Amino acid sequence: MSKGKRGRPLIIPLFIPNEGCPHRCVFCHQEKITSQPHGPLDGNAVQEVVRLSVQAGDCREPGPRQVAFYGGTFTSLPIERMRALLGAVQPFLEMGLVESIRVSTRPDAVDRDRLGVMKGFGVSTVELGAQSMDDEVLHLTKRGHGAEDTVKAVSMLKEQGFRVGIQLMPGLPGDSRERFRRTVERVIDLRPDMARLYPVLVIRGTELAEWFRRGSYKALELEDALEICRESCMALEGEGIPVIRIGLLTPPSLFQGGQVLAGPWHGCFGYLVRAGIHLKKIAGLLPGHGEAKEIRIRAPGKEIPLIRGFKNQGLREIERMTGAAVIRVVPDESVEKGRVEWDRMA
Ligand code: SF4
Repeated sequence: MSKGKRGRPLIIPLFIPNEGCPHRCVFCHQEKITSQPHGPLDGNAVQEVVRLSVQAGDCREPGPRQVAFYGGTFTSLPIERMRALLGAVQPFLEMGLVESIRVSTRPDAVDRDRLGVMKGFGVSTVELGAQSMDDEVLHLTKRGHGAEDTVKAVSMLKEQGFRVGIQLMPGLPGDSRERFRRTVERVIDLRPDMARLYPVLVIRGTELAEWFRRGSYKALELEDALEICRESCMALEGEGIPVIRIGLLTPPSLFQGGQVLAGPWHGCFGYLVRAGIHLKKIAGLLPGHGEAKEIRIRAPGKEIPLIRGFKNQGLREIERMTGAAVIRVVPDESVEKGRVEWDRMA
């Protein structure tokens, strides 16, 4: 897929909450997390959403657009339903207003016939909800598939020329930091085109919420989830696999009326992870502890928010590490991307 000046296609998300799912996974409540409770999406609704998004996009920034069907098991939909949804996007593809389509599905729901149909309708990317590559974790979570299903699905998708995304969930029942590390290693071996990291949240109305109430499930603490995501993100991206989303993009409704009972939620979760990774990368370029009393930091302008961190927490951490007060952080485009330089002010 060609990229516009955005670098990545603009995704127009459409939700089919839990459609096609063979059962409800213990953590899942798509109606709540997608904020689309009003019945099944039909062809007219698809066209209306895409048309409005295309118009809004024309006013902002032109570039490639991709329509995405999320929130269910796309490849298990009845074939006519699949054709109706994909067919509704075709006029936009023919006019060149949308470049391609992506869908998300379960690893055990991928079959060659469905993939052939999807190819014909312009689907280029399939995201697999792998969640874990540990069979015990998958079993405890009642996913209904094993790690081997993900291995087979990735291979089949690649054979047929699809781009492949893998969604993973740190914090599932039975998982641990070490187990999740092995999950990430196995995913790296599969060489997907992209990954997403969604730490588990306990959402009211799910089976996991019951387990949480009974005390048989303990959610990850925020700091642990951040550390696991920082480590996983660095491992994946270090192997050339971009992590395109970290943390659920949650609608405000999810937090109204206590819909999230527990879990490492933060409104800027992904930014916290990215800022933490950046700090690790630049730590060796900063003065040693006690080397300076006051410093000015220079960095590429786009990276300054990562250095400052959420509510300047990054600066406070730099001050703790160096023992120096950070007097200013200034943009300096002569500094190489991913690096910083510093000047002694006192
Ligand atoms: S397969 Fe995916 S969308 Fe369906 S219930 Fe499980 S997690 Fe939710």
